Amino acid sequence: MNPYEPPKSQNPPVSFLNADTHPVTCPHCNEAFRGAPKKTFLGFQQYNCPACSQKFKYPLSRGYRITYWVLLLGSFVTMVNKPGAQPNLFTLLMAIAVISDLYLMWKRR
Ligand SMILES: [Zn+2]
Repeated sequence: MNPYEPPKSQNPPVSFLNADTHPVTCPHCNEAFRGAPKKTFLGFQQYNCPACSQKFKYPLSRGYRITYWVLLLGSFVTMVNKPGAQPNLFTLLMAIAVISDLYLMWKRR
């Protein structure tokens, strides 16, 4: 037991609750709810629907999207400038992230 630990019975302030939850709509059953996303490996936001308990993903947040595009284009430029260079795992991951993101955005139109 850590005596310096603050008591856990207190409710967090409302602003804290709202900071991490987003209004989302479940693509499986169309239930609208507020949920806190779980970040998956590449930065996608994964939600659990409280109504049908299906998991679904949302596209990347803007910061992630820009970062991945810049990194992907950067490694393409490197490959073009160095003939014979093979795409590495890093480039592959960036490509997967960008393609999955485009797919998720396309699905949600
Ligand atoms: Zn649902």
